[in-house]
Amino acid sequence: MSARVLVVDDILPNVKLLEAKLACEYYDVITATSGKEALEKVKQENPDIVLLDVMMPGMDGFEVCSQIKSDPETAHIPVVMVTALTDMQDKVRGLEVGADDFLSKPINDTALMARVRSLARLKMALDEWRLRENAANQFGVVTEKNNLMQEPVEGARILLIEDKDYDKDKIVEALSGDLNIVISAPDGLKAMEMVKIHDFDVVMVSLNLKEEDGLRLCSHLRSNERTRTVPIVMIADDKDMPRVAHGMEMGAYDYILRPIEKSELLARIRTQIRRKRFQERLRSSYEISLSMALTDTLTGLYNRRYLEVHLDKLIENNVHSNKVLAVLMMDIDHFKSVNDTYGHSVGDEVLKVFSERLKNSVRSFDLIARYGGEEFVVILPDVSPERAYMIAERLRRSIGDTPITCSVEQGSIKITTSIGGAIIKDGSHDIEEILGRADKCLYEAKHGGRDRTIFEEKGMITDEDYKEIERAVYLEENEQGE
Ligand code: GH3
Ligand code: MG
Ligand code: MG
Repeated sequence: MSARVLVVDDILPNVKLLEAKLACEYYDVITATSGKEALEKVKQENPDIVLLDVMMPGMDGFEVCSQIKSDPETAHIPVVMVTALTDMQDKVRGLEVGADDFLSKPINDTALMARVRSLARLKMALDEWRLRENAANQFGVVTEKNNLMQEPVEGARILLIEDKDYDKDKIVEALSGDLNIVISAPDGLKAMEMVKIHDFDVVMVSLNLKEEDGLRLCSHLRSNERTRTVPIVMIADDKDMPRVAHGMEMGAYDYILRPIEKSELLARIRTQIRRKRFQERLRSSYEISLSMALTDTLTGLYNRRYLEVHLDKLIENNVHSNKVLAVLMMDIDHFKSVNDTYGHSVGDEVLKVFSERLKNSVRSFDLIARYGGEEFVVILPDVSPERAYMIAERLRRSIGDTPITCSVEQGSIKITTSIGGAIIKDGSHDIEEILGRADKCLYEAKHGGRDRTIFEEKGMITDEDYKEIERAVYLEENEQGE
């Protein structure tokens, strides 16, 4: 996986060393030798990861990091702080100002590659969501800025797989003190049982379990449906670095080395929780915006955009199918006078009830869309002309026969609709032509006195027609049933 890495250090040989190591692994490297230059490069060069030295004259790494993380345009870019090995306070402070990770000097190659790779992977996932979100934004339905990682970090559910009592107790105490719920399991079997019952935000796995291989467990968690996206943090000893590297390759998100330092543990786990919640929020807001982009908020019916896409697909499939497609265009009669007499909000209520009735009168695979204010389009795929006449007329009657209950003094309003229908045989058509044909019939229905259904070629569906068609369709169905 390639990624663009910005290396920031005030000491040139340090920059060169990191640049060489990363270039060897085919990363695209850009460099900066001061905090100010780093911020400029972050804006201009769009890096995927920033490796940031803490100790720099002028603006130090903490300041640079906090500026990157407080700008909505750059907050999502993972930042790795590079600190002196001994300085625990620096590490913790770095994570608190929003750094995603840190590396100790002198830099261990395994740790460097593991962290860069894991963050490059995370960045790709975030970019994907951001991209989709932007698409949703273009539909004009989301305005909220979602790329600041300001998720709450309390109340997370953490699964701890560790059989060393000393470490287990220490971790449980630290994480519970941070208001998390920690469930611990001494082995994989028990852990997988817990996974079935609870949803976890983070899983911590010891790589030094007595009875089994922690790495195998990590791979198991990665392939399990319920834990596939849950961040894994490995617990290991210094000597386990090669296995840690392997774990990161398999998709673990982070690791912590023994002896476990409480503030480092808290900072790392908080980062994972924040990251997971951030991704979940992006996902759910994306799903909401997508459904909002395709449906009409007042009636819950599909909107015009969706109708067009759907109809396009149907037409495409219809070219050689020998099937018949019916398109109905409906428009409420004198709807303006409903608004004028009772007010716009009663008009809205009527539109909702009206839409419910339509939904209840068609088959599950028929499509109803709100085409405009009080105009609706119904698509009936794979119907005989007779059945299309029947469904259309049934729709018209379902509206006109029963007054619509709404908040007016008399309790309900009687309304009627006009319907124009076109039967589309197989062959090539375009949407405009098809809708235009149905619309022409609708126009005739309006001019002929409203409250009626008119089909191309067939003309108006009379009471007599309706009875006859009902009988014919009934017989046809019963024949098929035999
Ligand atoms: P016709 O029988 O010829 O269709 O007459 P009409 O009054 O229904 O037709 P017209 O197109 O003149 O008016 C449509 C009205 O529908 C005007 C508009 O204010 C109203 N309308 C459109 N969208 C909405 C909506 O979302 N809510 C409400 N309450 N009214 C709407
Ligand atoms: Mg109307
Ligand atoms: Mg109209």
